[in-house]
Amino acid sequence: MATRGGLLLVTDFRYDEQARQQSGAVARVEIEGVSIWDRLFKELGGSTHAGKGGGSLIGFEAHALTVKEAERLSSPVASPWRWKPAGELVERLRVRKDPGEVAAIRAAGRLAAEALRETLAAVRPRQTELEIAGVLGGALRRHGSEAHPFPTIVASGPRSALPHAHTSQRTVAAGEWLLLDFGAVVDGYCADVTRTVVVGARADDSQRALYDLVQEAQHRARAGVRAGMSGREADALARDPIEARGFGAAFGHSTGHGVGLEVHEAPRLARTSADPLPENAVVTIEPGVYVAGRGGVRIEDDVHLSADGPVLLTDGCTDLVELV
Ligand code: ZN
Ligand code: ZN
Repeated sequence: MATRGGLLLVTDFRYDEQARQQSGAVARVEIEGVSIWDRLFKELGGSTHAGKGGGSLIGFEAHALTVKEAERLSSPVASPWRWKPAGELVERLRVRKDPGEVAAIRAAGRLAAEALRETLAAVRPRQTELEIAGVLGGALRRHGSEAHPFPTIVASGPRSALPHAHTSQRTVAAGEWLLLDFGAVVDGYCADVTRTVVVGARADDSQRALYDLVQEAQHRARAGVRAGMSGREADALARDPIEARGFGAAFGHSTGHGVGLEVHEAPRLARTSADPLPENAVVTIEPGVYVAGRGGVRIEDDVHLSADGPVLLTDGCTDLVELV
């Protein structure tokens, strides 16, 4: 809770020590044993001038509240205040990264590359997607990733055509695609990487053609993206070459998203986004082409939109890997 009088963090016993360590320097920390909501209303009563029929205006983070939590704001105990959705105030402040934040994402990107290299060296035909995800997860942890920011996607063969596949028991066969989309976290900051490789054989001509197209689109976007261009313009950098070759309908998601404390945050590189990309944002560039029944290719790297242009924070090594 932020008021003119200062910052207050109300939490429960489980977070007592952690809350004091992480927030004690800037906020008063109160540990509540019964109801955090009742405590919040009580504290609000002490720090705002609530009165019947027209109390203080309180902004709340609508995107972070469940419907059940929102119902508390229309309950009698909350009636002394006027509640207003405040939009994503904190998220907007987070869009521009400072050098320390960029360094953390770069460190996460480096770690992700090392973990992937180790994992690919161990991939063999007849392993299951889950097995490969396990090897990758272990390697990420061994190299120091603090968390998996999202469940690792390992999708093989025709399943690589599912952009957000759930990793399954399917075994990968020689000559098939293997798509790996995964994250690493350093100092709370995420990197987000996707690579698509061919397992146990050389790529055939149609695989090579599909891969070359996605790689060309990815390189065009990651080299051309600039702070100040709209999310739509950035998206078009990757989309135009894919559409020009007739695969527009097979690239059904946006080109990228911001990455930071959360793996998906502002800004968006999408056809629907007219907002300019802010300087010092960090964004993913991740075009993909998905052919139902045959498979898909996605290639994803993370880019810092510096004043001097785009700077890669992940390794950017996208030449087609054939695990033979
Ligand atoms: Zn990803
Ligand atoms: Zn992503």
